[in-house]
Amino acid sequence: MKTIRTHCNGCFGQRDHEVLHREIVERYEEFAPGDFEHRRDEYILVKCCGCQSVALLHDMTSMPFSEWAHNRYPPEETRQRPERIFSLPLERDVNSLLNEIYTALPSHLYRLVVMGIRSLLERIMIHKNGDCGTFRENLRSFLDMNFISKSDFDLLVKAFEVGHAATHRGYDPSREEALLLLDIAEHIMECVYANAERAERLNQHSLPPRQKAERTKGKLNPNDKT
Ligand SMILES: [Zn+2]
Repeated sequence: MKTIRTHCNGCFGQRDHEVLHREIVERYEEFAPGDFEHRRDEYILVKCCGCQSVALLHDMTSMPFSEWAHNRYPPEETRQRPERIFSLPLERDVNSLLNEIYTALPSHLYRLVVMGIRSLLERIMIHKNGDCGTFRENLRSFLDMNFISKSDFDLLVKAFEVGHAATHRGYDPSREEALLLLDIAEHIMECVYANAERAERLNQHSLPPRQKAERTKGKLNPNDKT
């Protein structure tokens, strides 16, 4: 079995992959009288020896232009999907938006990522607190209802500004900015959904009733004459 080592989105790291199929396509095109471009495309279908995920690797070279490209399908994920967040009781559209954000991320579509995060936060606020009109009013209401802290509020105002600039002013955010906003969004989701879930689970436990008699024992009991 022939193997190559490459990134696996399933295992999220470098893993040995079995080569299922390899195809090389070469062609020559005359771009000037007597001068030819030699383009070579190599496709390798691989399967992870660990988790069995399948991916297609594509390498292209072009001479004499010295052009080259390396593609991979599906694109290499550089940030692992947070299963913890996805397993929370998210509304259908919130789950779908988060999924789309993680799909755009490995393709470096950071403008879409940032716009998606803004929509995601807006949907969460509307689900939990109704629609108050604008993003900022929704945010203020979210703070008033104690879904978020004042420091979360300040973070979200900044996130809103980046999202607004990307949506309306053609701003092209960096990868670092996109990841930072995603951190903020996931932190908010953790606060809003996970804490509600924890409180629910705690409520399901039946605690033993407090023993009133025990309170009167000891030196604090004024009737205790020791
Ligand atoms: Zn794998």
